Amino acid sequence: MRKAFKFRLFTNANQERELDIALETHRRLYNAYLDLRELACSMYGVPLSYVDCSRWFKGQRATNPFFARINFSSAQATMRRLDKAFAAFFRRIKAGEEPGFPRFKGRDFFDSIEFPAYGDGIKLVNGKLRVTNVGLIRIKMHRPLEGKIKTVSLKREAGHWYAVFSCDLGDVPIEPSTNPPVGIDVGLESFFTTSDGAREPNPRYQKTALPELRRAQRSHARKRKGGKNRRKSRRKVAKIHARVKRLRREHHHQVSLKLVRRYGLVVVESLNIRGMLKNDKLARSISDAGWAGFLETLRTKAESAGVAYVEVDARGTSQQCSACGSEVRKGLSVRQHDGPHCGLSLHRDENAARNILARGLLARTGPAGGNVRVA
Ligand SMILES: [Zn+2]
Repeated sequence: MRKAFKFRLFTNANQERELDIALETHRRLYNAYLDLRELACSMYGVPLSYVDCSRWFKGQRATNPFFARINFSSAQATMRRLDKAFAAFFRRIKAGEEPGFPRFKGRDFFDSIEFPAYGDGIKLVNGKLRVTNVGLIRIKMHRPLEGKIKTVSLKREAGHWYAVFSCDLGDVPIEPSTNPPVGIDVGLESFFTTSDGAREPNPRYQKTALPELRRAQRSHARKRKGGKNRRKSRRKVAKIHARVKRLRREHHHQVSLKLVRRYGLVVVESLNIRGMLKNDKLARSISDAGWAGFLETLRTKAESAGVAYVEVDARGTSQQCSACGSEVRKGLSVRQHDGPHCGLSLHRDENAARNILARGLLARTGPAGGNVRVA
């Protein structure tokens, strides 16, 4: 299992400049490589082979001192990023979709440098981070690293630099648990509702930081393009963005921890965010709640705690009675589930969560519920 650790870097002016130059060099490499691939596509109608790309980059390094200066394997990681974008592009074309062609990255859309092998160009030395051609950077490691460091990324966010360590923790076995299983229905009214009827309220930052962010974004949109004020307002937006992101992440961590401490099996809806985003009215709330991010955090927490985590197809779970299985159609505005046949009456989200739990228990392979006690 992989776990990420993110630490703030404290750079001096010189290191800051070197990091900015390195980031800009990687961005230009990405764009130059995109240019090359486009050219190859239009001239020969075939994608470039890995060998061609390697040879091209070696040639570039011979003539471009900036390219020559960056770490070789991290340069390859940047090119692989584009390879992945192309692979996704062709996959989606094959699936009959209409994806956008991979695009050139502007300054605001390229914010990280990856080092795919720890020790190659980047290393912790006596509590500091040594980066080749940048120097020994002060780093605030506010929590201990776990497992074995595999990769490191340097990331620039709202004017600060961070190092993200991806560590391998090995496999944590799923422990037989006496804790009960739970089904979770993510929603708009509450952040989520559990199959035992507990409702997690929406986080507070949605009421305070989000309106502030929207105000800043609106104000930014009014500023003249290329002007000084626009630059300033963009920085302000980025700053609030970073804060909202941090608050959201904290909230996800805290809520996930609560769940994995309490339950032995967690069943959630497999989110097809893309499908849901088609409905415009729901879209904003969905991205606000950041459910995909939440489920990702929950999955990671469950894995590291040895708690079973199951995703199920939740289609129809709100329209089905969790007691007798009959279909009870209701619009989004109807918040109560009333079973006409069996007399079950409860909140619609709790009913959905119970269905999700039932599907999860059913989907488990082997002896169903073998290591969980059904409440
Ligand atoms: Zn019923």
